[in-house]
Amino acid sequence: MRIIKSANPMQKYSNRLKATNNSVGFVPTMGYLHEGHLSLVRRSLKENDKTIVSVFINPAQFGPREDLAKYPRDFKRDENMLRKIGTDAVFYPTAKEMYQKPYHTYVDVECLTDALCGRSRPGHFRGVTTVVAKLLNIVNPDNAYFGQKDAQQAIVIEKMANDLNMNVKIKTLPIVRETDGLAMSSRNSYLSKKERGDATVLHKSLLLAKTMIRKGERSSIKVINMMKALVRQKNVSQIDYIAIVNPETLKPIKTIHGQVLIALAVYIGKTRLIDNLKLKVR
Ligand code: AMP
Repeated sequence: MRIIKSANPMQKYSNRLKATNNSVGFVPTMGYLHEGHLSLVRRSLKENDKTIVSVFINPAQFGPREDLAKYPRDFKRDENMLRKIGTDAVFYPTAKEMYQKPYHTYVDVECLTDALCGRSRPGHFRGVTTVVAKLLNIVNPDNAYFGQKDAQQAIVIEKMANDLNMNVKIKTLPIVRETDGLAMSSRNSYLSKKERGDATVLHKSLLLAKTMIRKGERSSIKVINMMKALVRQKNVSQIDYIAIVNPETLKPIKTIHGQVLIALAVYIGKTRLIDNLKLKVR
């Protein structure tokens, strides 16, 4: 497995692969890998001749009061996990390499980034789309893999790729969960034992919403209020948002019908966790 730390050699490696008729799959990550990340890498290995994974904690997507400095990292561990499953190359650049000074160019997807996580994390998606655009230019893959775990991110990236005529297919894969339902996340490592127990309430609230809707409830506000009541039973939780939205426009839906995305962000102690569920309602 190659480890490439600069953009230029990465571009050359990828160009060589393409020139020799290899299809290239790409999985961007911030490292501290878990089964959620590996599910994307495995799918890429299956669907492409060569698979490239990036490990880069992108400073541009963290707000000034967010967890950039303490974001978990362990490259040796990531490297071993990726080697074991047959990854062809890892792109592991520094922030200095990615944002060479003076840096002036950003990619901004409008509208879709105002709601949900965009509201409480101003500038976050501008950081995400900028780094993903750069990574796609550097790696030049045929297919790029993202997780439904970050539902809004996947939608925003798909829009960016379409709007900018990027020559890549964006694929979004299902959420991988722990056995008790908690969506896997690098940030779960912040949780104390008590918080780890409380954190299952995110998924439980989604299951509650699903049951209410299956039983015929069609009022978003009623479903959201029941979800809020369940989450509030955990006294450490602070709710950032719970929303039911159109999965394409991310606009709130009053009456539940057709495809809906139920999404939430909750602070468990100081850790902000997100989860979501996509439903088709007849
Ligand atoms: P991150 O390292 O958190 O930036 O995540 C890198 C990619 O892995 C993103 O496309 C995430 O949506 C995806 N991902 C993270 N957690 C999960 C999960 N539990 N299931 C599926 N995909 C995930």
